[in-house]
Amino acid sequence: GERALVNVPEAIETVLALIQHKLGDRIAVERSFAGRPEIHCTPALLNQVVMNILGNAADAMPEGGIIRINTLSTPEVDEIRISDTGPGIPEDLREKIFEPFFTTKPVGSGTGLGLAIAYSVVQAHSGSLTVEAAPDGGACFVIGIPRQAASA
Ligand code: ADP
Ligand code: MG
Repeated sequence: GERALVNVPEAIETVLALIQHKLGDRIAVERSFAGRPEIHCTPALLNQVVMNILGNAADAMPEGGIIRINTLSTPEVDEIRISDTGPGIPEDLREKIFEPFFTTKPVGSGTGLGLAIAYSVVQAHSGSLTVEAAPDGGACFVIGIPRQAASA
């Protein structure tokens, strides 16, 4: 896709507004934007990837919880970290969840494609998409966009 200079906090706010109906009052969103605000990428990178990850976080917390969105930058990489206070992802599933059609949701409610699409979009930017356990046991997705490739 066509690369553009994308303001990361603005893109995140746009996506949050789009999925507000899924978050409702039960999920609080905490932001900490400490990274380089603007990165060169396909605007779809942030929108699609962040959208899919936030949608999953909402699905993982039917009783409510907190989504934390942090950005940080090093000389090499711009990172967006999205964590939730849901049940987390068992270690043996942390690679499988990126495979197309892998889902643990009831038939008809999950396609299993959200993370596979997010992964391929990030790959197209020479970036990385990984998941780790948040300190409280929830899921923490880390989008990493290398600065060299991002501005190429
Ligand atoms: P879908 O949402 O349609 O199931 P995804 O590719 O978006 O497909 O996600 C695949 C699977 O990864 C989910 O079914 C779920 O098991 C797991 N998953 C993704 N995000 C989270 C999360 N934040 N917390 C717990 N499990 C998650
Ligand atoms: Mg999904």
